[in-house]
Order: sequence, then structure tokens, then C-alpha cells
Amino acid sequence: MIDPMHTISFASPGDDISSLDHAHPETILRWATWSSDRLAIATSFQSSGLVLLHLLRNVKPDIPVLFLDTGFHFEETLEFSDRIAKMWDLNVIDLRGKHGSVKQQVKIHGAQLYNRDPELCCFINKVEPLQTALEDYDAWISGIRRDQSPGRSATPVVEAQMLPSGKEIVKIHPLADWSREDVESYISTHQIPTHPLLEKGYRSIGCWPCTRAVGEDEDERAGRWDGFNKTECGIHTFGKPHGPQETEGEQ
Ligand code: SF4
Repeated sequence: MIDPMHTISFASPGDDISSLDHAHPETILRWATWSSDRLAIATSFQSSGLVLLHLLRNVKPDIPVLFLDTGFHFEETLEFSDRIAKMWDLNVIDLRGKHGSVKQQVKIHGAQLYNRDPELCCFINKVEPLQTALEDYDAWISGIRRDQSPGRSATPVVEAQMLPSGKEIVKIHPLADWSREDVESYISTHQIPTHPLLEKGYRSIGCWPCTRAVGEDEDERAGRWDGFNKTECGIHTFGKPHGPQETEGEQ
């Protein structure tokens, strides 16, 4: 359990960012807002994202909140995200694929693309819309953690990503060093509402066709793309010029 009072001295110009490795998430968020005026957060309103949004209320309350509106979210996700956005007066920006709607996607790619080619489905509904949106920013924040899955165990606090245009963008993971228990403790301490599907065993919640509830003995993300050789949607794995390129295809 991380001591919530644990912080490092605030980063200033010229500081070595490795000092952020075990810093409290609020310290990392303050460094991020100091480092970039053009900063956004992407979230699907799951527990880690809620912790970051709650911390950001004291750090940068008007931060753009990018939400990948794939058209395949659970009704519970859409109702819950609306509730949190209203409660915290969030600046939510919905991102959609070029096709614009599920109906159009079906016209172009056929029905149930998620069953036939989930990589393509994630690309057109998540990766491409996010890449397009990130052209307007210099850095973005994500709530991924090292303990979520083996594929995320080496997640750095700060890394670089290259957009298809060649633009380099900074990606920041303030919760990389936190555990699921740390997140649950923060949520409980601050009495933050949680996604209604969480209590039904959905510990990682994406689109309804690609998400199932998981058992206590399973990885948090074991219920994503069950039956496919796929563990990530691609938004965390594209364009890493200075780091190892992951082979596995989140959010
Ligand atoms: S998670 Fe499933 S439904 Fe959602 S974009 Fe990816 S493949 Fe499509």
C-alpha cells in the first residue's frame, strides 16, 4: 500500500524524470501540467480513470477528457460516464471513428466485425480516432497500471509515442506503480462512485461484445477479447520510437 502522503519534491526544469518513477500520482499530474499546456486524459471511466479524474480536480479541472465512443459500450458505461461528467463538471470530448456510427460500420465492414477481425474493429473505433485527436495535444494521460496484466508489467511512468503523422507525443501513466488495492483504497477513502458492472465481476470493462466478467483468481483483464489472441486494443502499443515495441495488440 502506497502512503498517500508520499511525494517527491516537485519536478522543475532540468529535473531527471526518473525521479517520478515512484512518485505519488498527484505529483506526476502536477509535473505533467507544468510540462505541457496541451494535455489531455483518455479514460473509459473505470476505477483507475476515476482516481485520476478525482486528483485532476485539484490540479487541472478543465483538462480535456477524451472518451472513445465506439458505439459498443454497455448502457451502464454510458449512463455512468454521463453521471460522473455532470457530477465533476468534466470537459468530455467524445471520439468516434471516421465511419461515424455502428450502422455505417456495418455497411462498410459487415456485421459483427468484432467477431471476425477485432484488430480492425479496435483500430477504426479506438486507435485511429485517438491518434487523430492527439494531433491537437502534446501529451496525454492514461490510467494503466503495471499490475493489470503481464503485458503491462513494464509500463513506464512516462514514455514517447509517435503518431502516424510523425509527430511525437508524451504519454504519462501516473498510476503505473499503484496496485488494484491502492486504487480501491483511494476510491473508498474518497467515496467515489464506481462503475455498476464492477460489482458483477467485470473488473476491466470495454465494449460489450469483447468483455466478460472474471473470477477473483484471474487477471483483471482476462475477460477482454476472450477467445482471441489479443490483449490490447492498440492505443497503448502504437508508435513507441524510444521503447520496446509490444507485439500484442486496451483501453
Ligand atoms: S473492443 Fe471489441 S467492439 Fe470495441 S472496438 Fe475493439 S473489437 Fe470493436
